[in-house]
Amino acid sequence: MPRRPLIAGNWKMHTSIAEAKELAQTIARASADVSDRDVMIAPPFTHLAAVADVLAGSKVILASQNICWEEKGAFTGEISPVMLKEFGCSMALVGHSERRHVFGETDSIINKRITGALKFGITPILCVGETIEEREGGKTFGVLETQTKKGLLNAEITNADRIVVAYEPVWAIGTGKTATVEQAQEAHAFLRKLLSELFEKNIASQIRILYGGSVNPDNVDVLMNQEDIDGALVGGAALKVGSFSRIIHFN
Ligand code: PEP
Repeated sequence: MPRRPLIAGNWKMHTSIAEAKELAQTIARASADVSDRDVMIAPPFTHLAAVADVLAGSKVILASQNICWEEKGAFTGEISPVMLKEFGCSMALVGHSERRHVFGETDSIINKRITGALKFGITPILCVGETIEEREGGKTFGVLETQTKKGLLNAEITNADRIVVAYEPVWAIGTGKTATVEQAQEAHAFLRKLLSELFEKNIASQIRILYGGSVNPDNVDVLMNQEDIDGALVGGAALKVGSFSRIIHFN
């Protein structure tokens, strides 16, 4: 069975509420004519309620940019899966490179977020990727293996929709430098094989693996034509209606 593509926009810490509503509205309209792929957006936490209202009745999936593992409690600054579900979030980014490298999130924290999301029925998008030093030092596959295995430790994956993986080379995020299609496909094939060692083969073969790192209207088609690339996680270009719409409509 072919994997259903997923185009995901990560808005990071951008937009006012008014801008977010307008952007979400346009994305909902731009997605209305696509039925063979999923479209997702992850606005800032503070905009989720407003964006959820705008997306009501549309096909666009609402996601959060992070997620706590507990339902409630003394976790200052965190948002619980139950709270996110109240807004209609069904997906959550976990372990984005900015969480790992700017905020120091470890594989063990990321694993808690993954298992917490799964427990409450939210699909986590586990982001993994190497730095430029790691790539140049020949450590890319080792880093991907560690981040994936530790991130998914004890994760109960009973079907492919329970999880999405995103390969995002850190050196390609927000830099305008995209991995070559060969580099991206090679990393995705490695991750696919790894997933088949961690989960049942028929589930692993259906898990979607997104590529992220300076995806834009000019490179999306060739990336999406790679065997193991099942979608895109898009930062900068997700904030520009024309660009994101073109990415959603990749060939
Ligand atoms: C991201 O935020 O995950 C990302 C890939 O950003 P950009 O598309 O801007 O590189």
